[in-house]
Amino acid sequence: MKSPPLSERPPGFTYRRALRGFRPVAKELFADDVSIHALAKRYGTPLYIYSRSTIEERYHQFERAFQDSEHTVCYSVKANSNLSLLKILEKLGAGFDVVSGGELQRVLTANRKTTAKVVFSGVGKQSDEIDLALHSGILLFNVESASELQLLSARATHLRKRARFAVRINPDVEAGTHPHISTGLHEHKFGVPTAEAGELYELGSRNKFLSAAGVSVHIGSQITDLGPFRESMERAAEFAAALRARQYAIRYIDAGGGLGISYTREEGRDFPQHVSAYAEAVCGPVRRLGIHLLLEPGRSIVGPAGILVTRVVYKKRSNGKLFVVTDAAMNDLVRPALYDSYHEIVPVTVGSRGGARVEVDVVGPICESADFFARSRELPDVEQGDLLAILDAGAYGMSLASNYNSRPRAAEVMVEGKSARLIRRRETLADLLAPERV
Ligand code: PLP
Repeated sequence: MKSPPLSERPPGFTYRRALRGFRPVAKELFADDVSIHALAKRYGTPLYIYSRSTIEERYHQFERAFQDSEHTVCYSVKANSNLSLLKILEKLGAGFDVVSGGELQRVLTANRKTTAKVVFSGVGKQSDEIDLALHSGILLFNVESASELQLLSARATHLRKRARFAVRINPDVEAGTHPHISTGLHEHKFGVPTAEAGELYELGSRNKFLSAAGVSVHIGSQITDLGPFRESMERAAEFAAALRARQYAIRYIDAGGGLGISYTREEGRDFPQHVSAYAEAVCGPVRRLGIHLLLEPGRSIVGPAGILVTRVVYKKRSNGKLFVVTDAAMNDLVRPALYDSYHEIVPVTVGSRGGARVEVDVVGPICESADFFARSRELPDVEQGDLLAILDAGAYGMSLASNYNSRPRAAEVMVEGKSARLIRRRETLADLLAPERV
């Protein structure tokens, strides 16, 4: 597969002519105004680098698209849960979508006051997580089963805390995305079929500590066709209207997340149009209800705002195939292994190798054949020691990272204009071994 010779993700990641010492280098990738080469030298590799300006720009574009509808953007923490990133979004006015007590604790750490804008999703919430959310006074529990509602009811009564809930309905809509991140069909574990969801509102109304406040829906992630969003919102709107007719005070429809991004071309400039069309697909069906929309974007805000920088460790030729072995691996960025997903890979310095292009597999050092970033991809020729940037790695990169093969997780850096700060230090081998006992 071919990729363009020079690929950028403005405004965050662009090539510039740079001087290294007194030696001019052809072109070098920058994160905002900071040299990636310099960051790699300072913090080592593999290294996640985020652009604050990109996060802010995309958040504002998202907000602008929904400005005519009463709404709250609840950033989906699972996409990237770094505390500094949450703090940036919280300062912009975001609420949060969490799916575990751990994610909620992160939001509380970023700013305790934002809990009034937190929604709690997830199919397996446990008592301790529910208790933390009840004590924190979150906005909404998105309930996914009768058993969960019973547990919520019991915990709320025990703690004498009030809880607003929505039932996550399963709209049986085909999202047209990878099967592992598609969630809106009856065959999936998520949500409750609309035909059965009414009973849960009935059940909830029997407890004075619970109030039925919304309807929620989420059909999957990395969805680029807007039709399924419209369809699921039509079902949610119809259901919310039926609940209102039964005197439930339904104030919210939680539209979930899932807006896809383009991993294969420079996408930044058409994001405003794309997100506007998405807003129309989401808002159109619910407009007549005069309802407060909750939105849970993750990937579309932070995906293109991050890259993973890695160093070429070896080049290896085997049976006519050329492998570029990098110091990053599937434990750092698992998306290609998990979803066979495509990430553009570009050299951090362009032109220093004479511009030849070769077909390569870019692979990590882990003992799995699934440990790859690109297969049979034509890329500019690189040598041992060169730096590569794996683009659009801001979402589901670090948050899915693991210690597989006992590899410490990467460091993360936030670039803010001309400066950069370490927002998570690289793990050490001592960190890895600390919880274990012999
Ligand atoms: N909300 C829920 C309930 C999710 O499960 C997810 C992820 O699949 C999201 C929001 C965020 O999705 P995305 O990052 O695709 O916007």
